[in-house]
Amino acid sequence: MYLLFDNGGTKTRVTYSKNGESFIDPVIFPTEKNFDTQLKTIKKVADELCGDKKLEAVVGGIAGPLNKEKSCLVNSPNLHSWIGLPIKEELEHLFDCPVFLENDSALVGLGEAVSGAGKGYDIVAYLTISTGVGGARIVNQRIDASAHGFEPGHQIIDFQGVECSHCKDKGHLEGYISGSAVEERYGKKPYDIHDDEVWEKEAELLAIGLNNITVLWSPDVIVLGGSMMKEVGIAVPHVEKHLKKIMKIFPNTPVLKKAKLNDIGGLYGALAYANNNL
Ligand SMILES: [Zn+2]
Repeated sequence: MYLLFDNGGTKTRVTYSKNGESFIDPVIFPTEKNFDTQLKTIKKVADELCGDKKLEAVVGGIAGPLNKEKSCLVNSPNLHSWIGLPIKEELEHLFDCPVFLENDSALVGLGEAVSGAGKGYDIVAYLTISTGVGGARIVNQRIDASAHGFEPGHQIIDFQGVECSHCKDKGHLEGYISGSAVEERYGKKPYDIHDDEVWEKEAELLAIGLNNITVLWSPDVIVLGGSMMKEVGIAVPHVEKHLKKIMKIFPNTPVLKKAKLNDIGGLYGALAYANNNL
């Protein structure tokens, strides 16, 4: 039996899988910024869910890039005070079984590649456009090898451009299309913006980022998730139209799809990770 979790910047989801094929309805709660309290809460929720059943492993996503050993965060806009803390070790101590950590967006990407909008494609690029922008490259249903993970939100689309909300450097994709960037620019929550021109512009800016992802990652499909891709937000057909205009070097643009697994893609990813690696 596996315990699966997704420790996002604002919300945490915890569930378990008995058979390795499916998982029960997750318990979802606000992420506690205090490290010790959050880990204890995950343990308490897990104990309530699993009772005294023996866990084979714990697999979960954490909001931020991890070190090479996948044992701690090396950076994190949302969980700043956790950087460098021994997350894997503490969880192994609490659960008394092996613990496997991954970047949260990479696990959502894996979930979408195996069970969601990317199912059936060999090379999947996943991009989440929410408060921030994250993503990963998934190849043959595994998170692609990397030295430092993937941070497509921090690619530069205009070297003299606006400040990135996270890095404060100029011209990062995240500084144009993230929820926080849009709110700052237009002075309104993105879901309150009902101006087609704004969303057309955002679709064009996203297409520039997707051009770069396409020429570097060469994906069969790009899966787009996150709160900025909802009803009020960036429309996939508009992004596709701009991408087709911008990208000329390959005969076809990759298929663009909206993510399917909503809030629990990371749990599907954690399950796929367990099945791939355990
Ligand atoms: Zn940045």
